[in-house]
Amino acid sequence: MKTMKTMKNGKTGKHKKKRIPARKDGNRRIQKPDEIQKRDGIKKKEIMQVTYFFTALFLILSIYIVTYAATHEEELVNNSYNPRQQMLITQNTRGSIYSADGEVLARTVTDDNGKSKREYPFGNLFAHAVGYASHGRMGIEAQMNYYLINSNVPFSQKAENEAAGKKNPGDNVYTTLDVKLQETASEAMGVVYDGAIVAMNPKTGEVYAMVSKPDFDPNQIDTIWEQVISDTESSVLLNRVSQGMYPAGSTFKIVTALEYIRENPDSYSGYRYDCSGSLTHGEDKISCYHGTKHGSVDLKKSFAKSCNTSFANMGLSFDRKSFGDTVQKLYFNRELPVDFASSQSRLIVEEDTTDSDMMQNAIGQGKTQISPLHLAMITSAVANDGEMMKPYLVSEVKSADHTTVKKYTSESLGRVMSKEEAAVLKEYMQEVVKSGTATKLSGLSYTAAGKTGSAEYNTVKGESHAWFTGYAPADDPEIVVTVIIERAGSGGDYAVPIAKRVFDAYFE
Ligand SMILES: [Zn+2]
Repeated sequence: MKTMKTMKNGKTGKHKKKRIPARKDGNRRIQKPDEIQKRDGIKKKEIMQVTYFFTALFLILSIYIVTYAATHEEELVNNSYNPRQQMLITQNTRGSIYSADGEVLARTVTDDNGKSKREYPFGNLFAHAVGYASHGRMGIEAQMNYYLINSNVPFSQKAENEAAGKKNPGDNVYTTLDVKLQETASEAMGVVYDGAIVAMNPKTGEVYAMVSKPDFDPNQIDTIWEQVISDTESSVLLNRVSQGMYPAGSTFKIVTALEYIRENPDSYSGYRYDCSGSLTHGEDKISCYHGTKHGSVDLKKSFAKSCNTSFANMGLSFDRKSFGDTVQKLYFNRELPVDFASSQSRLIVEEDTTDSDMMQNAIGQGKTQISPLHLAMITSAVANDGEMMKPYLVSEVKSADHTTVKKYTSESLGRVMSKEEAAVLKEYMQEVVKSGTATKLSGLSYTAAGKTGSAEYNTVKGESHAWFTGYAPADDPEIVVTVIIERAGSGGDYAVPIAKRVFDAYFE
């Protein structure tokens, strides 16, 4: 307010009275002094109003800038144009990144000449999850850059380092990643296929493994840079776990079944459908995988056998508004609330969505696109009795002298389905393992549950990506594994055995 008054007075002082010019026709009109004063008064008032407005705007902007700088320090420092970032890089040695079990995933080594280099002891293994820190940044290297370039060692140590002309050690990042599970997942996918695997804890959201293929060696990033950025066909740098967009295929039947239960809470268990291998509606025809005739099926059997025609039939009965709300709540067409780069899954259901599109939507084909991470989140919500947890990769930041700088804990994204709905879906997902398309997971030392998918990307040739998403143990889920193997074939044949190896390694 004080500023405003000063400016108001200043302005008033500068404001001079204007002379009214005489009219050219010589017909002069003499203005009375009180009239001039009144006119000036109005002008003064107008100018003051404008002054007030701009002063207020200036104050709001100043407060905004100060507040923004305080709350977005991390973002501002991460902006490579920020000189403070350059200063921190010069003063501190970039911190290390560790796995959950304390293995070094990234570190900076400095030679005798003071030249430093970023090292990734596991080579390709954590390429997308940990990322790289030259030619821009990716993965945890990007997400946690602010902490890695800062140093929170005590001031006494900083002073010692400065006196000795040494850099301060940057803060270290501790992740939720498990080396054994990451290795198993990567080896299980092998080198022939491209695809993605994610393993996470459905109760906490901790990500244990995040594998994307093809991969690259971050130690060689400077050498291979030109090659990897020009190879648009294989998109090596794309983290397929969170950025890959795939047709959901039959794994989407988890969502379709949920919607059917939701719209028919009292009668879903009495659902019956007679599958003759295909369903024709208007000009559209939906077929079961390889034209299999499933015969008379209820909802549970439709799910276990992954009967397309039965699910397309359910899709035709859906209330568009309700279905649209269900998928929206499950994070379709929305940014995933994660702290690393991700793509938005797509599924549009509107009042005027055609029957043809509803049938395609119900079986996860058509325009439906999902990332493996998003499917793992939905699976985790089922496993966690309807509550969705935020997936996270970083558990803690510590200074080089082991003082905690920041701790990350589990975060709930809220209930996305009722406990009762989750219980029914869990029963169906167990049936898939007992008698359906994932029997390769039955008769083991642990009990698993899940859903397979063979997502067609070429309907003419009938070529498909192999999906599996599931969890174990069935009665008290500890781990969710979601797998997609590009251009492999059926989920039951190609994705289930890979998920099994990850489960085996976890329960070993
Ligand atoms: Zn069928």
